[in-house]
Amino acid sequence: MSEKFQAVVIGGGPGGYVSAIRLAQLGLKTACIESRGALGGTCLNVGCIPSKSLLNLSEEFHKVKNLSSKGIEVGDVKLDLQKMMKNKDKAVTVLTKGVEFLLKKNKVSYFKGIGSFKSKNEILIKDEKGSENIIQSEKTIIATGSVPVSLPGIDIDEKIIVSSTGALKLEKVPSKMVVVGGGYIGLEMGSVWSRLGAEVHVVEFLDHITPGMDKEISNEFMKILKKQGMQFHMQNKVESINKSNSGATVITTDKDGNKNEFDCEVVLISVGRKPNTQGLNLESVGVELDERKRVKVDHAYKTNVQDIYAIGDVIAGPMLAHKAEDEGIAVAENIVGQSGHVNYDTIPGVVYTAPEVASIGKTEEQLKELNIEYKIGKFSFMANSRAKAIDDAEGFVKILADKNTDKVLGAHIIGPHAGELIAEIGVAMEFGASSEDIARTCHAHPTFSEAVKEAALSVDKRAIHS
Ligand SMILES: Cc1cc2nc3c(=O)[nH]c(=O)nc-3n(C[C@H](O)[C@H](O)[C@H](O)COP(=O)(O)OP(=O)(O)OC[C@H]3O[C@@H](n4cnc5c(N)ncnc54)[C@H](O)[C@@H]3O)c2cc1C
Repeated sequence: MSEKFQAVVIGGGPGGYVSAIRLAQLGLKTACIESRGALGGTCLNVGCIPSKSLLNLSEEFHKVKNLSSKGIEVGDVKLDLQKMMKNKDKAVTVLTKGVEFLLKKNKVSYFKGIGSFKSKNEILIKDEKGSENIIQSEKTIIATGSVPVSLPGIDIDEKIIVSSTGALKLEKVPSKMVVVGGGYIGLEMGSVWSRLGAEVHVVEFLDHITPGMDKEISNEFMKILKKQGMQFHMQNKVESINKSNSGATVITTDKDGNKNEFDCEVVLISVGRKPNTQGLNLESVGVELDERKRVKVDHAYKTNVQDIYAIGDVIAGPMLAHKAEDEGIAVAENIVGQSGHVNYDTIPGVVYTAPEVASIGKTEEQLKELNIEYKIGKFSFMANSRAKAIDDAEGFVKILADKNTDKVLGAHIIGPHAGELIAEIGVAMEFGASSEDIARTCHAHPTFSEAVKEAALSVDKRAIHS
C-alpha cells in the first residue's frame, strides 16, 4: 500500500520547500520531491546564492586592489579562483543542508527523485538508481521552476558557450567574454568576470538594458557599467556562434544591417529562462499550459484540474525567488481554506551589481501608458552624507507618487545598498502610504536611507540637501 499524503509538493526550490513547510505548519501531512539531489532549487544551487557569493567576493577583490588610491597600501593582490569557488560552494552547501534541516524540523517527508503524475492523486517518484515509488496525494503543488533557454541553433556546452550555471563555475578568468543578453543575470555575471579581469562585451538585441526597468534608471545603470569597463553593443542580433579550439566568434547583425564579429574565450548566453514542465506527465492528467508553456493557474494558484496547483517560475509573473516563496505560502493557506494572497504590485526586483539597482511598483513608462498622473521625487547619493563619507555616491533614489493623492506608486533606486533600501518603500506601499508619510518619518543620520526620505521630500520640491 503506497504512503498517503495530504499535500505533495513537486520541486524543492524556494517556491516548493517554503510551501511544504507552510503546509506542514498548517497541520497537513506533507511530502516534498526534489530531483537535483539537493534542496533549494535554482536559487540556492545555481542562481541567487552562488551568484551573490561571487559578486561579493569579486567586489572585495576589486576594492582591495584599488585601496591605495584611498591611502591604504596592501601590496600585491592576487586572485585564487579555486579558493573563491570553494567559498561559494561552501555557502551553497550550508544553505541547502539548512533547508533539509528545516524540512525535517517541520516533519515534511523529503523524497529524492523525479516526480511525475501517474494519475491525478498518485505521484510516481523515480530515484537516480531507477527505483520507483508511488505516493498518494490529496493536493499536489507543481513547483518545478525554470531552466535557461538558448538561441536557435546554439548549443550550450557549459565550457565555451555557457549558461549562467556554467558562468558560475569557470575554471579560469577568460581574457574576453561575450555576454549575450543585457538582463540582470547577464549583467551580474558579466560584472563578476569583469572585476576578476575579463574584458566583457554585452551584446543586446534591444536599445536598452534590463528590459522592464524604469528607463531613466536603466540608462544611468548602463552609463555606470560602461565607466566600470563593460562594453555594450546594442541593437545587435546574434546570428550564429562559431566555436574554435581556443574560444568562439559571436556573429551579429546590427540595426543598420552591418555584420559584426566578436572573438572571445567564453560566451555567456543569458537570454532568459523557460518554465520547466518536462517529465511531469501533465498531459495525462490534463493540466493546461498557457501560450508560453507556463502552467495556467487562477488567482488561488489552482490549475484547471481539481487538487492540482502551481507556483513559482513555472507559472506567469516575474521569475524571482521571493515571488515563488510568497506564492508557496499563499497556496498553502488557500489549500486549508485561508485567504492566501500575493500583492504583485509590490514585488521588488534587485540587481546585485555595484552599485545595486532596485525597483518596486510602477515605472514612469508604465504610469504614462496607464494615463496616471504622477509626481517625481529624486535625490542623488552625491548629496547623501553617508555615501560621500565612504566614497560610494553614484546613483539616485526616484519616487513616483500619484499627482492627486500623493500615494506612492513606485520607487527606483540605483546606488549603495539599493536592495535593502527598497524594503522601506515596499512596506510603505503595502500600507498605502503617501510620499509625505515617508518624508515625515525620522531616518537615522548618517544613513543611505536618508536619500529615500529626501527623495520623498523632493516629490513636493522640499528636499533639504539638494
Ligand atoms: C544566475 C541566477 C541568479 C539569480 N538571482 C536571483 C536573485 O538574486 N534574486 C531572486 O529573487 N531570484 C534570482 N534568480 C531567480 C530564482 O533563482 C528563481 O526565480 C527561483 O529559484 C524560482 O523558484 P522556484 O521554486 O519556482 O523554482 P526553482 O528554484 O527552479 O526550483 C524548482 C526545483 O524543482 C526541481 N524539479 C524540477 N522538475 C522536477 C520533478 N519532475 N521532480 C522533482 N523535482 C523537480 C528542480 O530540480 C528545482 O530544484 C536567479 C536565477 C539565476 C539563474
